[in-house]
Amino acid sequence: MSTKQSSKATGRLVYSFGGGKADGNEGMKNLLGGKGANLHGMTQLGLPVPPGFTITTEVCTHFYSNAKSYPKALESQVRTALSRIEKTMHRKFGGRKNPLLVSVRSGARASMPGMMDTILNLGLNDETVLGLVEESKDPRFAYDSYRRFITMYSDVVLGIHANQFESAFEDKKSERGIEADTDLTAEDLKEIVAHFKQIVRLAGKHFPEDPWEQLWGAVGAVFSSWMSARAITYRKLNSIPEAWGTAVTVQSMVFGNMGDDCATGVAFTRDPSTGAKKFFGEFLINAQGEDVVAGIRTPQPINEASRHAGAKALPTLEQMMPKAYGQLVKVYQKLEKHYRDMQDIEFTIERNRLYMLQTRNGKRTAAASLKIACDMVREKLITKQEAITRIQPEQLDQLLHPTLDPKARKDVLAKGLPASPGAATGQIVFDPDLAEEWVKNQNRKVILVRLETSPEDIHGMAVAEGILTARGGMTSHAAVVARGMGKCCVSGCAALKISAERKELNIGNLMLREGDYLTLDGSTGEVIRGQVATIIPTLNQDFRELMKWVNEFRELGVRTNADTPNDARIARGFGAEGIGLCRTEHMFFESDRIDAVREMILADTHDGRVRALEKILPMQKGDFKGIFREMKGFPVTIRLLDPPLHEFIPHTDDELKSLAKRIDVPFDRLKRKAESLHEFNPMLGHRGCRLGISYPEIYRTQVRAIIEAVCELVKSEKMKIVPEIMIPLVGDWRELKYVGDYCREEAEAAIAEAGIKGIEYKIGTMIELPRAALTSAEIAEHGEFFSFGTNDLTQTTYGLSRDDSGMFLKDYLDAKIYERDPFASLDQPGVGRLMEFSIAEGRRTRPDLKIGICGEHGGDPSSVTFCHRAGLDYVSCSPYRVPIALLAAAQAAIAGPRGGLLVSKPKKKTPKTKKKAQRR
Ligand code: PEP
Ligand code: MG
Repeated sequence: MSTKQSSKATGRLVYSFGGGKADGNEGMKNLLGGKGANLHGMTQLGLPVPPGFTITTEVCTHFYSNAKSYPKALESQVRTALSRIEKTMHRKFGGRKNPLLVSVRSGARASMPGMMDTILNLGLNDETVLGLVEESKDPRFAYDSYRRFITMYSDVVLGIHANQFESAFEDKKSERGIEADTDLTAEDLKEIVAHFKQIVRLAGKHFPEDPWEQLWGAVGAVFSSWMSARAITYRKLNSIPEAWGTAVTVQSMVFGNMGDDCATGVAFTRDPSTGAKKFFGEFLINAQGEDVVAGIRTPQPINEASRHAGAKALPTLEQMMPKAYGQLVKVYQKLEKHYRDMQDIEFTIERNRLYMLQTRNGKRTAAASLKIACDMVREKLITKQEAITRIQPEQLDQLLHPTLDPKARKDVLAKGLPASPGAATGQIVFDPDLAEEWVKNQNRKVILVRLETSPEDIHGMAVAEGILTARGGMTSHAAVVARGMGKCCVSGCAALKISAERKELNIGNLMLREGDYLTLDGSTGEVIRGQVATIIPTLNQDFRELMKWVNEFRELGVRTNADTPNDARIARGFGAEGIGLCRTEHMFFESDRIDAVREMILADTHDGRVRALEKILPMQKGDFKGIFREMKGFPVTIRLLDPPLHEFIPHTDDELKSLAKRIDVPFDRLKRKAESLHEFNPMLGHRGCRLGISYPEIYRTQVRAIIEAVCELVKSEKMKIVPEIMIPLVGDWRELKYVGDYCREEAEAAIAEAGIKGIEYKIGTMIELPRAALTSAEIAEHGEFFSFGTNDLTQTTYGLSRDDSGMFLKDYLDAKIYERDPFASLDQPGVGRLMEFSIAEGRRTRPDLKIGICGEHGGDPSSVTFCHRAGLDYVSCSPYRVPIALLAAAQAAIAGPRGGLLVSKPKKKTPKTKKKAQRR
């Protein structure tokens, strides 16, 4: 649609609609706001829309740049537009006979429900109310409308809180000894109107009788509400720019409260919770729009399909007003066909005549989003590409994890970081062993509560429904592992005071003990008291169909981060095309081998270490075979040991004593060793390839386990496997050359011993240090593939660690010196730029260099877009994020080709906006 979006060229500040004609159309959201543009659109479609006009968002911008004044031309344009309404409606604004009443509403480009102000029944005064009495033959209705108008106007325009009017209204009711508003007589309401005016006077304000004065006051108040505290907060939360401004729509009132042949309601063209193709809505007879939302009376279902348990006995609109309902059905079908999306509509019926007041794309759950998109493709209403782009990748999370039953009540105790989505309810345990005991032997469901987790907690985490930690951020151990397991996790919840010894958890004044129930919402970070019902999702046919379409369009590969055959199976089920990161340290923590690992660490000689490693080798070989089998020939990248060794040694004296006994080593010696291994900065300490340089036997053993596993499977099961061996934390080509050389030597020896020909393998590295990114041309000479480890790369680039100090990071980010959280996405200066450089340099040396990413960004939709454009071969993410990455990759491919400048340059402020900023 070619639409002129600027009113500057024509000097047009006001756009009229009504009587079948409209100056604007639905494409003009930037200028007319979402609500305004759709009213113009509906009018053009020939739908019954009460006439009105829209004052553009540019007037709002002018208003704020010019000390809250209007452009000169506005007044005459508004007068012309208003007289058009008068003609269409055969009414007069301020007229003693047939008075025209209008509503004044806000409407920004993006919907900001309830954030800005609205005024109804404008135009009423002591004169016009008599006209309304005459016309409606219902003085009760006329004075009720008048008192509503005075309340709204005083609240919004004059700044007198609505409470004052409401309590006066209630006083009148008790004085008259009645309960229902509807029992007040016209005389009562007349007195209330007089009383309300007195309230205004006593507040030192003036209630204007002149409708024009009322109108300008209302327009100014709606523009002013753009800068109300709640609107500002909503904009911040939803990234809506302040510069957009709001439009104001002035529209002729129609009344749903003029008697029993009047009604008002809201409806969805499809069910917004399930997506089912049924017309769905509710209405109230003899009511104004706000009554439906306010919940004072139980709304009635519009048809049988909308009937729910709370409205069993109530008659439907279809039964009560069959003609108007029939009209409404035609309207909704037309709207859906035209907008090609599910619509959320508002209507009013005045004296059996239907009027449309609003239409917009309806908000919906993830399940509904999926069903509606798939159904609309089958109905040939939209293309597969459109269906793909309509579903927000993050929404898929809701479909893959249990969620809290939205109907359930919840008592939120505290909020932490939404580290891993889903919902979980269970009994609190503070100890991973006890978690295992309760789950395995007593069939209980548990929430593991820890100050922070460490790899030693893994067995407790594996059996828990959910994990809650007081410390740690979005990439803390708890968060990463929980996401990998597809398990709900709330991390960094600073409000928790945990005493594991006393088995107590304090949140504010509340004390919870081991065994008490707690519920977590990993999608919001909420920690909720007691048990809350959850809903378990199922992957349906629509999901599978969407994923099929996704695979037709995407160009980027999607792998998974998986350390166990079970994770690998889940990820394959979701469509992963390989493993991009198998972290082998988790294998070292298995209970049947951790002590052998500790023996290896404690051994003082090379031979001692080799003897201990020999115990581990067959077990690791078994792990690798399990994973290769699950992956059925898809590529598997195995990373050699990465963490510093102190992580494998217990921390407390009690644990050290028990270990000393088990492996027959004096406690003192064990303690000294533990202290000597302690890393002050684990992120940069003796870890990654540095371990491999100090102790080659560790990596040699791992390489041997990998190659022997491959050889055995090739021999016995005729599988085709090309393992990718990945060396972590390389910062210099010499490191990769040294480690790579001996790994190749070990691999060749293992292949020769197996006596099998044609075994292939690749040796590559992670790029997770800025130095590695900057020296990628040299590094690529010694590695056959790169995988960006953006967890470490982000931390080392910014010098910030999210893991160590989630709370510090929050305060730091709250200062808003960055436009966005530097950890959140790659498409901003910093890590993304290093990646671009590294890719170009690496491929300069080795044009066929395979490049992937295995940091947490691999499952972040905007980072996936970045990776598509940067020309990566694949992204790798935790199993439950695989569908999200697949969808994001398809969306990226539909949105545009690979290449181009990826990282946005910092925006330069123009002198004009600077001036504006100062003035405000
Ligand atoms: C990374 O640094 O991005 C990475 C994947 O490695 P880890 O998270 O295990 O340090
Ligand atoms: Mg790393």
